[in-house]
Amino acid sequence: MGTNGRKEKSLLSARDLKILTGIAEVFFPAGGAFAQGARDVDLNKLFNRFGRGFDRITLLGFRLMLGALWYLPVIFLGKPRTFGNLSSQDQIRYLEKFEKSRLYSLRGIFMAVKALLSMLIFSDEQIEKSIGFEPDCAPAAGLRSKSSAIKQGSDLNSDLNEQADVCIIGSGAGGAVAAKELAEAGFNTVVLEQGGYYAQEDFGQKPLDAFPRLYLNNSFIFSLGSPVVALSLGRAVGGTTVINSCTCFRMPEEVLAEWEEDYHLRGLSMKELLPFYERVESTINVKPGEMEVIGKNALMTRKGAEALGLSHGPIRRNTRGCKGCGLCNYGCPEGAKQSMERSYLPLAAKAGARIYADCRVDKIITENGRASGVQG
Ligand SMILES: Cc1cc2nc3c(=O)[nH]c(=O)nc-3n(C[C@H](O)[C@H](O)[C@H](O)COP(=O)(O)OP(=O)(O)OC[C@H]3O[C@@H](n4cnc5c(N)ncnc54)[C@H](O)[C@@H]3O)c2cc1C
Repeated sequence: MGTNGRKEKSLLSARDLKILTGIAEVFFPAGGAFAQGARDVDLNKLFNRFGRGFDRITLLGFRLMLGALWYLPVIFLGKPRTFGNLSSQDQIRYLEKFEKSRLYSLRGIFMAVKALLSMLIFSDEQIEKSIGFEPDCAPAAGLRSKSSAIKQGSDLNSDLNEQADVCIIGSGAGGAVAAKELAEAGFNTVVLEQGGYYAQEDFGQKPLDAFPRLYLNNSFIFSLGSPVVALSLGRAVGGTTVINSCTCFRMPEEVLAEWEEDYHLRGLSMKELLPFYERVESTINVKPGEMEVIGKNALMTRKGAEALGLSHGPIRRNTRGCKGCGLCNYGCPEGAKQSMERSYLPLAAKAGARIYADCRVDKIITENGRASGVQG
């Protein structure tokens, strides 16, 4: 039910839901790996929670994909039946045709449906209990870590009119660093971010709730073509750094050399970049990943590297006191990740930059070929 007591509008039609449930029952049969399966969860409710941030085109694309999966056994198995009317063995055989196809787009359909169903089904409280999942990272109750210098849409009660030397659109890795450097250099700086302002106390949610809040278009945007390329981007104060994995590589020297040689880019040798790397890395605390939370995969890799005589070491990450809860891609509930809203943006605000969340720029106004303002 919606908050006003009316029944919430379903994003999927009854037919879409029948198709999704039919496929889900093959992936997650009750009494299979777990006692409970797809038929024990309310897929409609879970999909509505997740899919509310999809734009119309993505939702339509998803529904068309479901329809195609349902009606295509005639092509892949030569059987003029819908997926629901196949024997359970043929259903598995049919899905395997997608999983093992030589065509990336068919494998992509399989992976997308499987990933989506896994996320929906494992978000159900009963299923969580049945597999013994206990979330072990959560922000302390009552925590209030937001900076009052970052203004949210709800803080504004009239149109925003700002005069500035520089207007930065977007508060991610690029925008936040530029804002701090420009504000500290004395420029009157404004940052406009279309996404909301979330901080540690807002994180620790299930993926299906975090995606609509923190990701552009709910999870992915797609560049349509052959192949279709899916891209994940953050949409929040701090940009994609709020949901990234904190791995901090420097550009390999051979790539910098290639840029110089092939594209004649100057000023980008490692020697010239080093002071900037060091400055950024110290601001966001880039250090080798903590051994206490490095995990069994990494320890196994270390063992293998040692056996083969290869150099090895933990990747460098921008964290402070990471407890390894593995929720980096949904916002850090421990406040360990030194993403932009915890590092560069407060410094930019301290230097006088005005930072606004929930402000989407739709138009850049130009005068005599130069940007003179923005509108949104
Ligand atoms: C799941 C995931 C994990 C990742 N892990 C790593 C990692 O471990 N290490 C690493 O180096 N990189 C990682 N990345 C990539 C890295 O985070 C990005 O490359 C980086 O944040 C890009 O910086 P940016 O400033 O270009 O854009 P972003 O950080 O994406 O910021 C752009 C901001 O601009 C805002 N914006 C866009 N248009 C408008 C508009 N019209 N008006 C107002 N605001 C607007 C967006 O909402 C967004 O907040 C990861 C990415 C993803 C998706």
